[in-house]
Amino acid sequence: MKMIRIVSSPYLQMLLTKLRDRKTNFIEFREIVKEIGAFMAYEIVNNLDYKEVKVETPLGVATGKKLVDEVVLVIVLRAALPLVNGMMEVFKDAYLGVISARRIENNDHSGLDFNIEISYLKLPNINNKVVIVADPMLATGSTMRAILLKIKEIGKPKKIILATIISAKPGIERVHTEHPDIDIYTLAVDEKLNEHGYIVPGLGDAGDRAFGTI
Ligand code: URA
Repeated sequence: MKMIRIVSSPYLQMLLTKLRDRKTNFIEFREIVKEIGAFMAYEIVNNLDYKEVKVETPLGVATGKKLVDEVVLVIVLRAALPLVNGMMEVFKDAYLGVISARRIENNDHSGLDFNIEISYLKLPNINNKVVIVADPMLATGSTMRAILLKIKEIGKPKKIILATIISAKPGIERVHTEHPDIDIYTLAVDEKLNEHGYIVPGLGDAGDRAFGTI
């Protein structure tokens, strides 16, 4: 039931290494995130359901495949923007949703259980569709927990998939304890979080690094 797929192909792992490198500037960083998004979408799309269809060629009729389900890509602002940009190269006809969620810093959180504010949410109809939530970093799982609860409150997707670049064990555990039905795709599982809930070694703040904030 609980599914975590670590996408370990050497080329993607090389891209991840460049992302982790503090010397990678923001222009390179977001290009690499975009490229990872395309490869990750390719990995995900190969694990969706297909049905058999007939297609007329200029010379006859061939049997082929077609995706069974419609797909909704959900952009978790802001770090997922370049990731979804890349994913759209594979999921060209996906519907798009946007969620703005942030940790409320300095609030009364216990341990790594941050309070989360969802300040903006716009989703298309998600009922019976495959919903892919993109967020490059699954750290404490607090943000993802709030997002998944919200999505399930709003509709009944056929399947929810989480696309991340780096996940930390505590985040995976929290998501899977509360939502064992969710498939997680990631390039790496890092062991630790620091006291601010950042993944160590991770890659730093994915939003800041992609947007040139630092
Ligand atoms: N968000 C990030 O951008 N980086 C982390 O390490 C954790 C959350």
